[in-house]
Amino acid sequence: MKKKTCPKSITENSKRLSCKRKRILPALVLLLLGISMASSGCAWRKEAAPITRSGFYFDTVIQITLYDSRQESLIDDCFAMAKEYEQLLSRTVPDSDISRINRSGGAPVTVSDDTIKVIEAGLAYCELSKGAFDITLGAVIDLWDVKNNPGVLPDRKELARALDTVGYEAVSIEGNEVTLTTPGAQIDLGAISKGWIADRMKEYLNSQGVTEGILNLGGNVLVLGPKSDGSAYTVGIQKPFAEDGSLLLSVDISDGTVVTSGIYQRYFELDGTIYHHIFDPDTGYPYQNGLLSVTILCPDSVDGDGLSTTCFALGLTEGLALIESLPDTEAVFITTDYEIVKSSGFPA
Ligand code: ADP
Ligand code: MG
Repeated sequence: MKKKTCPKSITENSKRLSCKRKRILPALVLLLLGISMASSGCAWRKEAAPITRSGFYFDTVIQITLYDSRQESLIDDCFAMAKEYEQLLSRTVPDSDISRINRSGGAPVTVSDDTIKVIEAGLAYCELSKGAFDITLGAVIDLWDVKNNPGVLPDRKELARALDTVGYEAVSIEGNEVTLTTPGAQIDLGAISKGWIADRMKEYLNSQGVTEGILNLGGNVLVLGPKSDGSAYTVGIQKPFAEDGSLLLSVDISDGTVVTSGIYQRYFELDGTIYHHIFDPDTGYPYQNGLLSVTILCPDSVDGDGLSTTCFALGLTEGLALIESLPDTEAVFITTDYEIVKSSGFPA
């Protein structure tokens, strides 16, 4: 990987027709298995097998593997953190900070320090992407409801109304108060919160003396640090749409994060078009830009998460140019022709 230093500042017609839906959970489990098996290939220690546990939080499978600790309670603590952050950041938890902001009707809402940090991280990517990444897409995301959508496109008028509420400039922060100035605007932090939470878990585990392990929050992979035996963590990058979870490539890292945004995890198909879960704030439709996925390698998972969605939104040319301009950050783009395009310092 190129040696650069990562700046902290970049933190992060109703028509019913036949459709094909894919189930997200089996694919995620396969992905997790793929990653842990890839990891085991070169990482297994003779003297102490790692401990691994999985849980399901904020609609995501979380898998935690510790290599240099036998303390299962630390994994419990990480799961408790996931639950706590879900209570603050989820749009579907009625009393979360984000839900309270979203139904405030333009009044200032006092929220926790953590919520402020995640919103600020999100806003940094809204600005970096000049609005291709936008944390106020909640109304559009709800209208599509891709996860449960049986193959129905949203009504054009309803979509236009939802689009009117989108625009991250409506989010203003003063101290711990957040105000949403556009009526009906809905904050959604789904593109950045998993990465931010992964970083907090790593911090916690490090503070407890654990320095070797892998956190996988639904494809947001973060490793705890170099292993004492010098071996690398091998992280698999899934072949888009492969139902058996097979890998297209894998990458060896000793530190940092590997985060993927793709169209194949959450989508429905209608008349040969894939309607997925990353939306263009200009049109209200999912981006159709010749990309299947973008994977980012960088030190912090909040940046990996912010950048993977940002680069997906920007498309291959602009996304790649952004990565080349950032320190200590690499990416691999997979196009709809399954062409693999890597940034210049991507590990061979
Ligand atoms: P995932 O979280 O599924 O791994 P991403 O990090 O790319 O994938 O986040 C996608 C999520 O981000 C969507 O499910 C939605 O909640 C939100 N989102 C969709 N489009 C955008 C966008 N253009 N900018 C910011 N967030 C988005
Ligand atoms: Mg993301």
